[in-house]
Amino acid sequence: MLMIALVSYPILIRCGEDHAEGLLHLHSLTPRERRIRAAKIWGWMWLCALISAPVCGLHIVLVPTFILAGPVMAFLRYRIIQVPDHVSGKCPSCKENFTLALKPTDRLPKRVYCPSCDATLYLLEKTDSTVSQEN
Ligand SMILES: [Zn+2]
Repeated sequence: MLMIALVSYPILIRCGEDHAEGLLHLHSLTPRERRIRAAKIWGWMWLCALISAPVCGLHIVLVPTFILAGPVMAFLRYRIIQVPDHVSGKCPSCKENFTLALKPTDRLPKRVYCPSCDATLYLLEKTDSTVSQEN
């Protein structure tokens, strides 16, 4: 059985001058999931090296680049312990609650559109400076 551990952090949802609070839900990766993600990117890089081997002229640059990129990208990906899952909150424009799925590669600040009123929303990290702006 797959256990999905979600961790939530408060964020700021801004729309023009209005803002509201929301929650960013992050998926905590288990060590096994981190190893699988690292192995996948390593495999893709080495597959790209194999595919680029017959490319005349460019293979001198591409093959060593992809071979070196494999372990480097795998190491960088293995270090990631949490990935974004979804964000939930209230739209500052139409006051409707919404939930938006996020990609694992998404990072804050991020621009999204409200599913109800199509307003442009900015998802921002909630820091001490953003809290003081509310006062
Ligand atoms: Zn809205």
